[in-house]
Amino acid sequence: MAVPKRRTSKARKAKRRTHFKLEIPGLNSCPNCGELKKSHHVCASCGYYDGVAVIEKQN
Ligand SMILES: [Zn+2]
Repeated sequence: MAVPKRRTSKARKAKRRTHFKLEIPGLNSCPNCGELKKSHHVCASCGYYDGVAVIEKQN
């Protein structure tokens, strides 16, 4: 089994972890109601997609 020859420096480790993201990607606000929605998905709050009401909202 391969064993690392050199210990990974703090700087190298930190640079690698710059790609670690806390926020979930592909999430943005709906242009119709402003709620947070998944991109390329029908809005769960108002049922709109691309300016068209796809799902009738149930009250
Ligand atoms: Zn919406």
